[in-house]
Amino acid sequence: MTPETRTATGTPRAAFTGKAPAALNDPRLRANFRRAMDGLMAKRAAQFADPAEWAALRARGTEARARALAKLPELLERLERRCTENGIVVHWAETPAEANAIVLGILQAAGARRVIKGKSMVTEEIHLNAHLEAHGITTVESDLGEYIIQLAGEAPSHIVMPCIHKNKAEIAALFAARIPGQGYTETVDELTAAARRTLRGEFARADAGISGVNFAVAETGTLVLIENEGNGRLSTTLPPLHIAVTGIEKALENLEDVPPLLSLLTRSATGQPITTYVNMISGPRRPGEKDGPHAVHLVLLDNGRSRIYGDPELRDTLRCIRCAACMNHCPVYTRVGGHTYTFTYPGPIGKILTPQIEGLDCAGDQPHASSLCGACAEVCPVQIPIPELLVRLRGEAVHPGPAAVAVKGGGSGYTLFESLGWRCSTLVFTSPRLYRTVGRLAGWFGTLMPGWLPPLNRWTRFRSKPRFARHSLHQLARKGGYDHE
Ligand code: SF4
Repeated sequence: MTPETRTATGTPRAAFTGKAPAALNDPRLRANFRRAMDGLMAKRAAQFADPAEWAALRARGTEARARALAKLPELLERLERRCTENGIVVHWAETPAEANAIVLGILQAAGARRVIKGKSMVTEEIHLNAHLEAHGITTVESDLGEYIIQLAGEAPSHIVMPCIHKNKAEIAALFAARIPGQGYTETVDELTAAARRTLRGEFARADAGISGVNFAVAETGTLVLIENEGNGRLSTTLPPLHIAVTGIEKALENLEDVPPLLSLLTRSATGQPITTYVNMISGPRRPGEKDGPHAVHLVLLDNGRSRIYGDPELRDTLRCIRCAACMNHCPVYTRVGGHTYTFTYPGPIGKILTPQIEGLDCAGDQPHASSLCGACAEVCPVQIPIPELLVRLRGEAVHPGPAAVAVKGGGSGYTLFESLGWRCSTLVFTSPRLYRTVGRLAGWFGTLMPGWLPPLNRWTRFRSKPRFARHSLHQLARKGGYDHE
């Protein structure tokens, strides 16, 4: 993971804009993403070939998530009660620093020195690995994709397939360089076997396992975790201690809400009817049981989610089930890749979630990294109106009204230049006489406008300079005898 991605506060507001040109000019990166995204889109389309079935399942999933959010405070209390009854110790963390301190405290109290991790985006969000490593605790990622990027010292570029930006040859070279005794091979089975050999030893040596949570069921105090490699199951059952970390929005009301969401999640994410493993964790090992950890902890993270929850429109962001379908179909993400976004969550979901978590003052360019084509909303299995939320956040960046109190950093995009620009445009567009005069002047002198001059060059860097018509529509109408003034 690069230091830049670890730094939330203070990340330049235009980090995306700064990185995008390099990504667009990287043919290898573009080819890797194009190939991977085409495959994922085709697999998903095959899964939802029946529009009526898709619509009905989507309605069920959306209803389950919306209902859970409508009752979230009550559900979280119920979840804590049920988990506690099941023997799971529940912790509440308001900030990433608090969550990191809680996890570190649990590990230190247990004398744990080595941790094996299942895939978890929320631990990426809080930069848990770096925190634990800084305190002398070794963390090993056990998901194959996460293991690869950990070896490479990179951050995930996709929320479901973290190393999708790498091709076979790059992984082969990485393994040959970083895994002792491993020669160069591009045979997938041999590469997988090499990772498996290393990770088997890590599972056996680990003092604790850390995982994320896909759904936390309040009715039964059950943590649902889906995966394809069995590493999630090994991480949460083999070591004597299991710590699950999740955002507070992952709560569901009932167990019966799980099947439709599971079906939507796996089919949208990887085009699979179901994942190979569905783990339902309901507490530590009980007397007489032969496996399972002796202690299970659940860390519930807020990190700005309560603030998002407080805004009735932006609250829809929290319905997300992290399937990544929006990014697989996004014309921006598929061309620039996940690292261009700088923050943990890339693509359309990142463009609405990151500015709300980190603040518009440091992630204000993210909502602008969109053509507003609506592809993301079309495929979102829980019907999050992503384009509408992007427009709302763009507005918040320049015009924080009374309704904007929920968005951190609102108004930070309102520079003096923009303010003057908008005032002038209001004057011109509300005065017919002034509009005609400016139009005429633009027709005469527009060609003299230097496209290279800042700040106009921010427009002309990617687009051709607009050519003003020599005659306005009014003049042409008058000439043609259609003047109604
Ligand atoms: S916003 Fe929708 S499509 Fe995107 S990851 Fe979340 S649930 Fe999936």
